[in-house]
Amino acid sequence: MSASDADCLFCKIRDGKIPAAITYRDEHVLAFKDVGPKAPLHELVIPLAHVSSLADASDADREMYGRLMVTAARRAKESGAAGNGFRVVMNAGPDAGQSVFHVHLHVLAGRPMAWPPG
Ligand code: 5GP
Ligand code: ZN
Repeated sequence: MSASDADCLFCKIRDGKIPAAITYRDEHVLAFKDVGPKAPLHELVIPLAHVSSLADASDADREMYGRLMVTAARRAKESGAAGNGFRVVMNAGPDAGQSVFHVHLHVLAGRPMAWPPG
């Protein structure tokens, strides 16, 4: 794991080089609004350190992935949009729809959601 990737879109958002609507930040994670929202609440939660994909996860990453989940739950609650529930999604790899290779958890709420996902 490298802490940063010069070509990574989400590293640029983390560093303020590309603007984003940031909703939460601490010393480990950052949350910001998805530029193409698929629900009334659609935010992305990322680790500050660059990690490409859940596909590479190891035991050393357990705390980081836990932080993403806890932050997602906090954002769902604080948004006021998740009274009837919310969904978290992490796409891993091209077939799953991962298009940005800096780990991110989608947080979606504010409408009923179908299952299974497409
Ligand atoms: P993925 O397809 O990798 O699971 O999710 C990537 C997400 O990043 C997509 O939902 C897409 O709308 C979002 N996204 C792509 N480019 C930008 C950007 O420049 N700013 C923000 N805020 N979101 C982006
Ligand atoms: Zn990155």
